[in-house]
Amino acid sequence: MALITKKIKGTEDVLPKESYRWQFVEQIMREEAKNYGFKEIRTPVFEHTELFARGVGQTTDVVQKEMYTFETKGGESVTLRPEGTAGAARAVLEHALENEGLPIKASYFVSCYRYEKPQAGRLREFHQFGLEEYGTQSPVADAELICAAQSIFDRLEIKQLRLEINSIGCPECRAKYHEALRAYFEDYKSELCETCLSRLEKNPMRILDCKSPICSKIAEGAPKITDYLCDECEEHFASVQKYLDAAGVKYIVNPTIVRGLDYYTKTVFEFVTDCIGAQGTVCGGGRYDGLIEELGGKHMPSLGFAMGLERLLMVMEKQDIEIPDFDECKLYIATMGEGAKAKAFELLKQVRESGMIAETDVIGRGLRAQMKYADKIGAKYSMVLGDNEIEQGAANIKDMETGEQKQIKLDETFLEQFAAILFESQSDSIVGGFI
Ligand code: ATP
Ligand code: MG
Repeated sequence: MALITKKIKGTEDVLPKESYRWQFVEQIMREEAKNYGFKEIRTPVFEHTELFARGVGQTTDVVQKEMYTFETKGGESVTLRPEGTAGAARAVLEHALENEGLPIKASYFVSCYRYEKPQAGRLREFHQFGLEEYGTQSPVADAELICAAQSIFDRLEIKQLRLEINSIGCPECRAKYHEALRAYFEDYKSELCETCLSRLEKNPMRILDCKSPICSKIAEGAPKITDYLCDECEEHFASVQKYLDAAGVKYIVNPTIVRGLDYYTKTVFEFVTDCIGAQGTVCGGGRYDGLIEELGGKHMPSLGFAMGLERLLMVMEKQDIEIPDFDECKLYIATMGEGAKAKAFELLKQVRESGMIAETDVIGRGLRAQMKYADKIGAKYSMVLGDNEIEQGAANIKDMETGEQKQIKLDETFLEQFAAILFESQSDSIVGGFI
């Protein structure tokens, strides 16, 4: 039979056998976000189009080329979120969270949608984890944010990840810098790609972010923003570096990093790797002091980062980083006969309620096939229940690895006995490990 359809180009399924990898990474992100004082925010997957047009910025690739925008039956223009910041910032404003005290520290997990050319590490639906801090202009916040990202990568044991930082100044220093850039790129007008030609007028800094080899080669010789920073921006940047040094976070100052959003100010940063090919930016972030105003709020200096989960998992796979799979089935109960099936349900409930994974036959297989299945799923212990066992009120429980068998009573002490057997077998390892 032919399938009626397949998944949309540029989207991916996460199958049951691989979801533990995602869950592991997400768990570490949740823990680190918590340690740094961030609380999760959840916002809708679609928003009014103007939110992204303003919040991400008209001159960005995302808004100009990549958004999934459509008209609803009611005639409204809505867009699937291409990133997480705009929605979070909108929610902060809409709920006047500043009244609850500053800073507002939020974390998020979002699926994002961008109409891009699908390739390794570049999808049309992808996932981001991000942190946001609203209402602080202190460089301590910049350093805290970068440290939080670094802590996540450290906990995931990711190697060969470069932290590159830069300052792109405030609108004041930027105006002078734009002039210098225009003057520089003017001489290369005949060689720049078409997109960069239009960038030259609207936002020449974006040329530094162009992925075309010719444009990036030309960009290498362009004036550096760091030479155009005003005193305040320069001081801010120096302080961020001082705090990063204090935390022992290693970084490189790369004056060519400009980032995607239009409203980035001062600090911008990326975590980059060379091990997964061209799409090597795993995390990007920075300050966006003008964003909240742009969305109709009062001046509220803010900052944040987003990391791409797919790229992160690619790096981990490439670097052979082992991800523990805690989903070990502790007990498989094979059954023969109706009485045994009912008894198995009673026992399984006890084991499952204690937080352990336990399974039984749900297909109607014969005993041999059931044992084969127990082996396939890697059950730690198995037990066969038939009329005899029920009559005797006891059964043999088998360690699937060693083959060793122990008798276990099928009464109200079942769970206690089973826990003792598990504990004994794992007494060399950490106690909490058996749950
Ligand atoms: P790139 O320069 O690679 O296009 P970007 O500047 O557009 O990235 P951001 O908007 O800063 O990316 O998003 C933050 C992170 O989200 C990126 O560093 C990356 O890890 C991930 N990401 C962005 N776009 C995609 C995509 N199309 N597919 C998978 N991951 C993505
Ligand atoms: Mg992009």
